[in-house]
Amino acid sequence: MKKIAILGSTGSIGTQSLDVARKHGFQVSSLVAGRNIELLETQIREFKPKTAAVFDNEAGQKLKIAVADTDTKVTYGKEAVVALAAETEADTVINAIVGIAGLEPTLAAIKAKKDIALANKETLVTGGELVKKAVKENSVKLLPVDSEHSAIFQCLEGVPKGALKSILLTASGGPFFGKIRDELANVKPSDALKHPNWDMGAKITIDSASLMNKGLEVIEAVHLFDVKPSDVRVLVHRQSIVHSAVELQDGAVIAQLGTPDMRLPIQYALTYPERYDCPAPRLDLFKTGALTFQEPDYDTFKCLPCCIKAITQGGLKPTAVNGANEMAVQLFLRGEIGFLQIGEIVEAALDSQPEVAEFTLEDVFEADRKARALAETFKR
Ligand code: NDP
Repeated sequence: MKKIAILGSTGSIGTQSLDVARKHGFQVSSLVAGRNIELLETQIREFKPKTAAVFDNEAGQKLKIAVADTDTKVTYGKEAVVALAAETEADTVINAIVGIAGLEPTLAAIKAKKDIALANKETLVTGGELVKKAVKENSVKLLPVDSEHSAIFQCLEGVPKGALKSILLTASGGPFFGKIRDELANVKPSDALKHPNWDMGAKITIDSASLMNKGLEVIEAVHLFDVKPSDVRVLVHRQSIVHSAVELQDGAVIAQLGTPDMRLPIQYALTYPERYDCPAPRLDLFKTGALTFQEPDYDTFKCLPCCIKAITQGGLKPTAVNGANEMAVQLFLRGEIGFLQIGEIVEAALDSQPEVAEFTLEDVFEADRKARALAETFKR
């Protein structure tokens, strides 16, 4: 039986991963949450993991008391999350933590020879080179959960090396597609949190509205599929049915289609290369209507070109744009900056991060810290 650990089990991807585990009877060895101990306790009682960790110390202490009658060992704090990722008895670790907080647990799990099902795109955006090196050295699998990258991965099955010409990365366009800058000056967090097609955590929903999410995904694709940034083309596809496509050397375009439901890519990352019935609704092509594809508006949504520039220049630039964005999203959600300032902050972080050829994990955290501090200077 497959043994899995879910980091970020109380979030959108985490709870959907548990749906997949429930459906297939996977053994859930370990669970991790940030601070939502009410939900984590329910999950512990249902799935009976051997270990659970909570990032927040106070919440972790409370959970330990609350589940003292179970066999689950509870630990808490940042180090406990990283230790659990390495020490879990699971063979596959699903990383569904949000933000750069997912990087160290990913690296720890890889070094402990666990296969990774990766939803936490910030892991590859900030530590791409370090993660790829660790994957190679430890001979583990790194399977994408992000729907676009899962689609690309599926389209590339059986495609010989060298046959890929370009990646066609689809984007829903988010709630503000078609709007111009003036119309976005006063939008509220509640407007940005209304995603037309996907039900996701708050951070990625704001990233979808600003197109930062698509920028992060361009960076993720460059790392996962070893392509040049110029080989990745972004297409706005409002229906979110084509999850992405690849163009091959002979002109063939292969796409993966499905309903907008993350349980299919989550399941595929866990059962690859096997295919089983999935809890996600099935796609009925007679009901989908027209499928459309348009160019993104790179002037209004600055985050996307900033990310493309960041991965083109390389080094710590992707870390800087990511860190600036993580802080900018928090500031926007707290009403401390306007929506358009997210792009301005990301651009400022890109420009202020010096180009470097080689870097360590400590350098990644330092670049992240500086980018966050820069973002804070934009507070009104
Ligand atoms: P959510 O905000 O819904 O969930 C995040 C999870 O991470 C929660 O369980 C949260 O715990 C936990 N968490 C937060 N901070 C920490 C920390 N420092 N240490 C340990 N756990 C922590 O996010 P999503 O599920 O939407 O997204 C997760 C990741 O997956 C992101 O990187 C996102 O970009 C990516 N992704 C998400 C998609 C989606 O459909 N949602 C689609 C594709 C990719 P708590 O609840 O206790 O705070």
